[in-house]
Amino acid sequence: MKLPGIHRHYYLGMAVNHASGEWLKYLFTVGKRKDYDALTRYLSKRYKGEAILCKNGRSALAIALKTYFKPGDKMLVNGFTCFAVYEAIKAAQLEPVFIDIDKKTLNYNIDTLARAIASESRVHGIIVQNTLGNPVDIKAIEKFANEYNLTIIEDLAHCAGVRYPDRREVGTVGAACILSFGKDKSVDTVSGGAVVLRGNREKAASVDENEQPSLESSNNIPSKLPRLSDHLRARFYPMFGAMSRVLTYIGLGGALMRGLVAIHWVEKSADNKLDLKRRPSKFEAKLALRQLKELRKNGEPPLRDFCYVHDREKLLKELQKNGYYFGGFWYERPISPERYYEKVHFPESDCPNAVYAAKHIINLPNYYTCRDLTLAREVIKKYQEEGFDESK
Ligand SMILES: *Cc1c(COP(=O)(O)O)cnc(C)c1O
Repeated sequence: MKLPGIHRHYYLGMAVNHASGEWLKYLFTVGKRKDYDALTRYLSKRYKGEAILCKNGRSALAIALKTYFKPGDKMLVNGFTCFAVYEAIKAAQLEPVFIDIDKKTLNYNIDTLARAIASESRVHGIIVQNTLGNPVDIKAIEKFANEYNLTIIEDLAHCAGVRYPDRREVGTVGAACILSFGKDKSVDTVSGGAVVLRGNREKAASVDENEQPSLESSNNIPSKLPRLSDHLRARFYPMFGAMSRVLTYIGLGGALMRGLVAIHWVEKSADNKLDLKRRPSKFEAKLALRQLKELRKNGEPPLRDFCYVHDREKLLKELQKNGYYFGGFWYERPISPERYYEKVHFPESDCPNAVYAAKHIINLPNYYTCRDLTLAREVIKKYQEEGFDESK
């Protein structure tokens, strides 16, 4: 007799970061100019640099990259990431060099980095991602970066608030850090992002005096108001999520969401457009500031804990029978989502671990409590790949 359980679990499954009455807050929070300024000041102080609010994380990353690199430069990038990162690199006219991951951490490590850089020239930067909140060995990465004269850019989409093994907070090490406030990120206000520029831009300038990339000359500070459609999508998304969860009781939650996506009232995260000129909504800035302050209090938030399984499709069906809704995987392809993967020309043969992870990973959703997941863990155990760390 699993029926009540089925519904209790399943209905949790959509837009759940914005569960339980939060939608009212999203509809009615009034944002002001001073909320922008307060968030900008807070970010500048916390990450010790010049903070700029952006439409989303990928636009923030593009601004960081344009500030420190020149067209044609190559960037070392984690070979297990989302399309947004690739999009930002392309927007800055740089070339990604994808680095294979360590299966245990989902991050590159010194060995995979050293192997990749040996056969490359014109590599000038490295993006540190700290996948799912697993911090990299930053001391080793810094040493590597110094050795090869690479500028470090930190991407905090997964890991805002986390600390590196040496206790420094993520976002305080590189020449710049970027944050995403998009759906399911560690700070989630449906959309929005920020970049904090810290390092000097001299190094980029020394390559060619005339082409010195600078914020002023390339006009990279977003100044336009958000589009009304984007603003409304952010306001209404939590409410639509709540509606779809209620409708799931009569089997229509999924249909509602699909319908809303079809008429563009809800946007899939990956489709959020890169736009260097637009700011986020002011109410998003206000809510993001609140969440950022919470992060400091709560310390290290885990994001979508993972393990490796065989027969993932079969496992998902069994989980669903037991009342669980496990949303998409981070990541279902080495560069996700699947519908954009073809565009990337990902070097699969150089990154076998990333290819393996994309096929076998399953993430524990962070919208269930530990207790809710007890049964799920039992089910997953039967499918778990050998050699996986049982303590997860
Ligand atoms: C989502 C994501 C981004 C960018 O986020 P958007 O706000 O959606 O543009 C950047 N880096 C990583 C690793 C991400 O997962």
